[in-house]
Amino acid sequence: MSKSDFLSRAEQMHSDLGPALCLAKWKQVSLHLPTGLNNSCYHPPLHRIPIEDIGRNPGALHNTPHKKEQRNLMLAGVKPAECSYCWNMEAHDKLSDRHYRSGEPWAAVDFDKIKNSTGDEDVIPSYVEVNFNNVCNLACSYCSPQFSSTWQQETDRHGAYPTLVPHNAPEHFSGDRKPIPARQHNPYVEAFWDWWPTLYPELEHFRMTGGEPLLDRNTYRVFDYVLANPSAKLHLNVTSNFSVDEKSWQKYLAYMKQLCNGRIEHFMQYVSLDAWGAQAEYIRHGLDFDLLWDRVNQFLTQVPSYSSLTFIITMNNLSVSSLAQLLAGILELRKKHSTTYQRVWFDTPVLREPAWQSLQTLGESYAVRLDAVKNYMSAHLETPAAPFKGFKDYEVARLDRDIAWMRSGQDLDQSQHLADFYRFFSEADHRHGTNFLQVFPEMRSWWAECEYHARQT
Ligand code: SF4
Repeated sequence: MSKSDFLSRAEQMHSDLGPALCLAKWKQVSLHLPTGLNNSCYHPPLHRIPIEDIGRNPGALHNTPHKKEQRNLMLAGVKPAECSYCWNMEAHDKLSDRHYRSGEPWAAVDFDKIKNSTGDEDVIPSYVEVNFNNVCNLACSYCSPQFSSTWQQETDRHGAYPTLVPHNAPEHFSGDRKPIPARQHNPYVEAFWDWWPTLYPELEHFRMTGGEPLLDRNTYRVFDYVLANPSAKLHLNVTSNFSVDEKSWQKYLAYMKQLCNGRIEHFMQYVSLDAWGAQAEYIRHGLDFDLLWDRVNQFLTQVPSYSSLTFIITMNNLSVSSLAQLLAGILELRKKHSTTYQRVWFDTPVLREPAWQSLQTLGESYAVRLDAVKNYMSAHLETPAAPFKGFKDYEVARLDRDIAWMRSGQDLDQSQHLADFYRFFSEADHRHGTNFLQVFPEMRSWWAECEYHARQT
């Protein structure tokens, strides 16, 4: 099978970019408007948007002084420490997200302009992710009150989790770390809507995350704007847990049918799912897996054109057991719904925080399980004779780099992380009425190891 364009472009960027440049630092932004924070892609830590700048220049939502400093470092060939996610991948001789992202057309088109810039210019990004508010009906294990009002309610009621450093402590999410509630005036959301008429004509990818966007009135304000101002180059994206109430779901589906009817280039539906069945429900508290899977099929059937669906599988230590089942389910969806183009995608970014849920906490026997998943994928690659029905070469490459990163943790002392895993999920079981060993019986000896470390400290 010939190499995909996506992989070829990333390899080209590997030789063109030099040691530190990443076009995503200019062309991409993730905006967290409830807290007034942003980052370039979603890997570097979030940093504050100076509130004093956005009134006179709403473009300062993206072009912060901090980001301009990082751009200057990159242009000087210096790797910014905040991009360690990519440097770690590259240290293992893998292509990193900076190669993949910079190789995509929305970024690559400005390669020469960026290479010859000073780093101090204001830039209008072409790839924007935005979180308007933190209203969410789920409390996923690795999320926080910053992104989920359900988490916020739980910690307001029960307090922090008893990990070594108390986790998701309500005190931590106070002051300027406290999300501005959806019902209150938010100056960052106001600046966003001031910026929107300037931003919209440049946009090639616009993605709404959350909180849960299907519950957010700003989502439907964007949809109404797009319906009134169709854009032939716009890739509109929404990340959802697909678990909202039926009325919200039907409203959303009705908008989808209008939008995916020639009003935009393409609609990408992102669905967050990290495992299969009860294990997925355990990771994402409040999720109904069967309902989600049914809605995935509804979406793919009832919104048949100008649209695709991508599963975001955030690879964590609770994903390993049922990853093969999840990928087999995705393969079935591909066979059923992808006939003239690929409608079902997935990505496998690794989870780094909280550290107790990282793949790196697991030993070699779990890495071997992922090797088996990788071999299964390699044995079911897409072929020219059966297009869209198999896995892609770069999907195998991404899992391969996850496994390499996982194995690099085997030399590190994980005892504190194992102890925290036990403390966190024991408390979660207590609060949620769940039972780790009933859901993950195959992880019994690992759980015992975690308990042992928790009792030592
Ligand atoms: S983390 Fe990687 S992809 Fe993201 S901005 Fe930094 S170098 Fe680019």
